[in-house]
Parts: sequence; C-alpha cells; structure tokens
Amino acid sequence: MGNGGSGSGLSKTSLLKGIQCSKALYLTKNPPDFEIPSAPDLEAKFETGKEVGFLAQQLFLGGTEVPSSGLTVKEQISRTRELIDAGAKVIYEASFAFDGIFIKADILVRTGATWEIHEVKMSTKVKDPNYDDAAIQYYVIANSGLTVSKVFLVHINNQYVRQGEIDVHQLFVSEDITDQAFARQKGIQAIIAELRKALQGDEPSIDIGPYCSTPYECEFIPYCWQHIPEDSIFSLKGRGINKFDYYNQGIVRLEDLPLDKLNAAQKFQAIATISKKDSIKLSAVKGFLVSLWYPLCHLDFETFDTPIPPFDGTRPYQKIPFQYSLHIQQTEGAEPVHYEYLANPGEDPRRELAEKLLSEIPKEACLLTYNQVFEKGVLKTLAEFFPDLAAAINGRIDNIRDLMTPFKKRDIYRWQMRGSYSIKEVLPALVPELSYDGLSVSDGMMAMRVYHEMCKTEDTAKVAKLRQGLLEYCRLDTLAMVKILNKLL
Ligand code: SF4
Repeated sequence: MGNGGSGSGLSKTSLLKGIQCSKALYLTKNPPDFEIPSAPDLEAKFETGKEVGFLAQQLFLGGTEVPSSGLTVKEQISRTRELIDAGAKVIYEASFAFDGIFIKADILVRTGATWEIHEVKMSTKVKDPNYDDAAIQYYVIANSGLTVSKVFLVHINNQYVRQGEIDVHQLFVSEDITDQAFARQKGIQAIIAELRKALQGDEPSIDIGPYCSTPYECEFIPYCWQHIPEDSIFSLKGRGINKFDYYNQGIVRLEDLPLDKLNAAQKFQAIATISKKDSIKLSAVKGFLVSLWYPLCHLDFETFDTPIPPFDGTRPYQKIPFQYSLHIQQTEGAEPVHYEYLANPGEDPRRELAEKLLSEIPKEACLLTYNQVFEKGVLKTLAEFFPDLAAAINGRIDNIRDLMTPFKKRDIYRWQMRGSYSIKEVLPALVPELSYDGLSVSDGMMAMRVYHEMCKTEDTAKVAKLRQGLLEYCRLDTLAMVKILNKLL
C-alpha cells in the first residue's frame, strides 16, 4: 500500500515527476525492492543549479533569502509570511504550501499590490515542462493569498560572451510565461487529485512507454524495463518505426519484427544482430586508408562546459578543452609515441593547450580523430580566440581525417556494435582485449565531472588521484584509435 494519502506532502519536483508518469511518483514514495543506480551527475547538476540561482538573485538586488538549511518546512513558510507582512519587496526562495504541495519560488518580487514570480532555470530556452512547473508555483502562491500578476522564466542567454565580471543582465533572459501558467490552472487541481489517488493504492500497473524518457529520462528504467532483452526492438538505432506501436502488439524481440517495415539502416542492424554476421566492404575501407598519411597523429580532446562562462571570451555552455591525448605514429604500424596535456585546476587552459598541441603536431602530419565534428569545433573556437595562432590551427584542421567514417558508413560492421558507430561500441567489438573496465573515469561526461571535482578541491592527494584517472582515461581513447586502425590495415 502507498504511504501518500490525501493531505500528505508533495514537493513540486515529485509532482512534476508524477505528471510524467504516476508510477514514477509512486515508486519515489514507495521505493521498490530493487537497486536503482543513482544518477552520477545529479549532485553536480544540483550544485551548478544553486550557483546559477544565486547569480540570478542579482537581477533583483536587496532581497532576503529564506534558506532551506537550518529551517523546517514550516519555519520556511512562516519566515516567508513574516517577510511579506513586513513589506519585503524581493524574497529569494520564498516558501509556500497549499493543498499539501510545498514550493519554493526562486525570486518573488512585489509590484504594488501584486507579486511577480521569477523561476530560474539553467536551460537556454523555455521547455514544455517549465509551463507545468510555473503553473504549480502559481497555483500554490495564488492560493496562499497573494495576487500574482506575472510569471517569468529566467533562463541562460547562450549568446552572451563574458568580458570581465559576469553581467547578469546579459547572462539571463526573462520570458513572460504568465498566459501558459494561467491556462494550466484549471487542470492542476484534477492532476493533483489523480496523483494522490495513485499514491493510495498498490503500485500502478503502468507499462513502459515513450514517457519513460520524455521529457526526462526516468530513474526507474532499470526496474520497469527488466523484461526487455538486450537485442529487442528498442535496440534499433535511429528514427524509423514507432517501436511502442510494435511493443503494444506484443512484439519485443528483433526476430519477431517484420523486417520490411524497417528503414535500410535499421534493417541492416536487425539482420546483422539476428544472424550474428559481420560485414566488410574491402574496397571502401581501402579507400579510407589511402586518404591517410604519415606521420599520423591520433587526437582526442576532453572538454567541459558550464552555464556560467568561466573565462573572458567564452559563452554559456561553450565546450572548453582542458585535456588532450595524442598518439603519433611515424609510419604505418609503427609503435606510437604518446603526448598529453591536462590543465591545472581553475586556470584558463586554452592558450597553453593550443601552444603545446601545435608544438607536438607536425605541420604536415595527418590528424586522425574519432568524430571530427567535435575536435574541429574545439580547434575552430581556439583559432577564433587566438588570432595569432589561427593560421597554424586552421592548417591542422585542414589535415583532419575521421576514423569514425568507415564505421558510420558501415563499410566495416561487427554485429556486436548494435547499430552504433560510437568508439565505445566499436572498440570492444574490434579490440576486446582493450577495455575501459576498471578505470576510474570511463566516459567523457565522467571526465568532465572529475575535472570539476578537481577544480573544487584543495586536497592535493585527491587532486593527484583525480588527475591520474583523467590521464589514464584520455590516453586509452587515443590508444583505442591506434588499435582500431591497426585492425583495418
Ligand atoms: S520507467 Fe517508465 S513506466 Fe517506469 S516509472 Fe518511469 S516512466 Fe513510469
């Protein structure tokens, strides 16, 4: 039985989760006897969100914050009421509860006899769930006795370029979403009643559906999707058939899918998976190989991005390189020489990184990347920011070739790749003896998190350990390219 009967408290976050899927809300309140892996970047996101929210408070100076820490929910609500009664003009984290729903408004601004709600988000545009979010804020605040005149969504302006101190009036954009918040008021009460009902009974018998990953990836996927085998219709990559249409007809395994309904790429994947057959177009692979020359430099960058641009000349969410690994082969099949760079925490690494890279990659060398769009993008941004290095960097860009090409074009395909041409799928299929298993950093997102962690700690032993993990990971990325290329020769 559920524990969330009528009158029990619900936060805005859990309500939004329930709007996506009532079973997700139920499972949050009644955790299943099943280990749900914790989302690794949740804490980092929360911390960044706090920084963004704090900065946005500068849009309305002179306010008073109602903190979460050190105060109970009741105390936060009373404190808010005291501030309102005392004539406060701006309240940060204003706290209210109505109908068992507790909310905190990021910024509440008094405008004469009415109030404006300013909800702050880290995104660069208004997204559909933001309207539900704003509607809940409005519902609770208006029913707490305040007259709400406007609801704004304050989000990041991705065109802002930092020069000196952060200019909050340029960094943030406010969009008036009052109409959308008002329009949802009629439905809110019914939604809340429905969700409370769902919480009173047994676990809702809701099957998997598109809502499992839209608008957000649900944390309970490992629990609800247990019955889906690895080689199911959901393993098909790319757009094509509506997989849930087939699932709802009882078709789960690839073998049971009518292949004539699939597009060419999905059909190729399905046939290879079912028959466990590899394929290779020798002349196409040869064509790719003759487009390379020596010395051959295998290059991989690691980057980080943040909503608050950290250095002059950077924009929100700009990918800033903090690390690279470079394996250089002088001749075909030769033992590669390794070079690497990893920024010191907290420093702007761009100039040092660019200069070191240019000193290590010979002018006329062929530069091999895996997914050239990414490396080219990073190099182009460096060339734009350092005009004196632009000619040299652009020269290196002209020499870039992409090791992903033969895999993307399916000139070489192993059935274990499951329709993917990501290096994380290609490597175990082609070079099973080389693996990311056992490394403390095993993908690019994790590398970014570890770098952030490295920037935040002053513990030198910890910095050294994190540094070691990053170096091992990035080195393996380019070593993997060397080994994959060897398999093609
Ligand atoms: S995984 Fe899907 S069905 Fe399960 S709780 Fe989440 S959204 Fe609902």
